[in-house]
Amino acid sequence: MLIVMKPQATEEDIRRVCEKIQAMGYRPHPMPGAERTAIGITGNRGPLEPAEFESLPNVAEAIPVSKPYKLVSREVKAENSVILVGAGEDAVAIGGRELAIIAGPCAVESREQAFAAAEAVRRAGARMFRGGAFKPRTSPYSFQGLGEEGLKILAEVRERYGLAIVTETVDSESCDLAEKYADVLQVGARNMQNFSLLKRVGRSKKPVLLKRGMSATLEEFLMAAEYILSEGNYNVILCERGVRTFADHTRNTLDLSVIPGVKDLSHLPIIADPSHGTGRRDKVTPLARAAVAVGADGLIVEVHPQPDRALSDGFQSLFPEQFEELMAEVSAIAGVVGRTVSTGSTAPDWETARTASNPTDRQAGPPASRPTVRSSP
Ligand code: PEP
Ligand code: MN
Repeated sequence: MLIVMKPQATEEDIRRVCEKIQAMGYRPHPMPGAERTAIGITGNRGPLEPAEFESLPNVAEAIPVSKPYKLVSREVKAENSVILVGAGEDAVAIGGRELAIIAGPCAVESREQAFAAAEAVRRAGARMFRGGAFKPRTSPYSFQGLGEEGLKILAEVRERYGLAIVTETVDSESCDLAEKYADVLQVGARNMQNFSLLKRVGRSKKPVLLKRGMSATLEEFLMAAEYILSEGNYNVILCERGVRTFADHTRNTLDLSVIPGVKDLSHLPIIADPSHGTGRRDKVTPLARAAVAVGADGLIVEVHPQPDRALSDGFQSLFPEQFEELMAEVSAIAGVVGRTVSTGSTAPDWETARTASNPTDRQAGPPASRPTVRSSP
């Protein structure tokens, strides 16, 4: 059931509806929209009686939600959700006109490696940095990540390069830690249906990047997001990262049709991961272009300063120069579909900070590559 308030409804009217829902033993989810607020209800097992709510002041209508998911549905919220990541000058909005570009290595391997990657992706225009400190690896003998030490390095990256941090959480313990250091909590493909983890991140104040399971249907993907919203965290960014198919020329098949599919059914933003979606370095940029063309709200891309030495996913990680090319090509496509790629208008202050702390290290100056890439439709 969805309670739609009239445009003139006051805070008091909304509160009264929420209290009624609580008194019935259910949970209210007020969703402010551009023109009016809608209030979703979760926790009820059977259908509710619309008249119970329609008699309350400034309730426009009470409508049953036809989809199995409620809070992620466009029936509940017609406008696109825009998720704010980070704070202050470095805040990034995901789901608006501007594309969100997240880049960095698969895993944080060392301070030097993370800093080199961060410098490269920041210069090329990324506003967010990715890097796993807890790695869900197929083999127990593969590199599992640096744990909290990796998170501390990520926090230093944010401090020095002004990049918002996206990192994976695999259980409630790693979630407690990631919440302390990161800006966005990533739930990986292998955990898309780890319902206790979904509930845990649903109780977090941090936005969540939810990756599609490798054999999940669109409905299962949205139901996983519903778990997070139903706990009260509405800041969910979906991510298409490729699904398993018979094709063996790539590691996974990036299912680009799910992007307009999500847009039809849900107000949540969706980004694409052409790195895991293809598993091959030479396919990453073409699929990044395609993802933006079909309406992705951003990209998450693996970039490593020395991909051949990477401890995980080196074969799909871009060299820094390739990432620069990707940014230029994606900016061109963005213009065609009415989106922009903004890399920030000022020279990164880490240039001066770094020179001040280590004068022999580098001459201060503008970034070598485009400081701002902004294209209009
Ligand atoms: C990752 O982002 O490095 C990762 C492990 O992704 P996925 O969960 O999509 O495999
Ligand atoms: Mn990876």
